[in-house]
Amino acid sequence: MRKRLKAATTAAVLIILVVLCYTAGEYLRQKIQESRETVGDIQRNENMVVIDAGHGGKDPGKIAVNESLEKEINLEIALKIKKNLEKENIEVVMTRTTDERLSDTQVGDLKERVKLINEQNPVLAVSIHQNSYQDESVKGPQVFYYTDSKEGEAAAGFIQKALMEMDEENTKQIKANRTYYLLKNTEVPVVIAECGFLSNYEEAEKLVSQEYQETVAAAITEGILAYMDSN
Ligand SMILES: [Zn+2]
Repeated sequence: MRKRLKAATTAAVLIILVVLCYTAGEYLRQKIQESRETVGDIQRNENMVVIDAGHGGKDPGKIAVNESLEKEINLEIALKIKKNLEKENIEVVMTRTTDERLSDTQVGDLKERVKLINEQNPVLAVSIHQNSYQDESVKGPQVFYYTDSKEGEAAAGFIQKALMEMDEENTKQIKANRTYYLLKNTEVPVVIAECGFLSNYEEAEKLVSQEYQETVAAAITEGILAYMDSN
């Protein structure tokens, strides 16, 4: 009888301990989450988005199979997104609006972009690029985000969804990355939108047309707005 009582008491104490540990853990997790969000709310410009047109000037980016240059397509799409967002009364800061590189070196150029994004402190920064791959058949837009950024992941999800609705054949999913310089060194949510593959002839031809650039810009704008609404 005494043995049974002892076993029952031990079990009860253990259960209470487990429950206490779990509750304390949940409480701490919630507090950490709250403090992160507060910092974000205080610091970020909630109505501002930075649009980064990748490459420029001496740096053409990828050269397409139809010989068009990534830097030019990036800028065209970026400027169209700017126009769309401004129609929605969102403040847009561009890293470049002309065919220029922000520094003499490639590393310096990336550093300048990161510096500008961190200084502006927008609710989101979207970097526009075009992809390339050795297998010419690979195509479709894909959005990248920093592995440890929940906000970046959410933004990438909204933009990818809008891009999939634009191109129903596209099966690409958002992809986490922790090595890209721009993703790694920025202090605000940043996504890289690779709008298509310049190594795929059909997609490269589409990407140089104003009409398709408008379509891509509209999808990315829609994704950005959905992300901003969700905040
Ligand atoms: Zn690029």
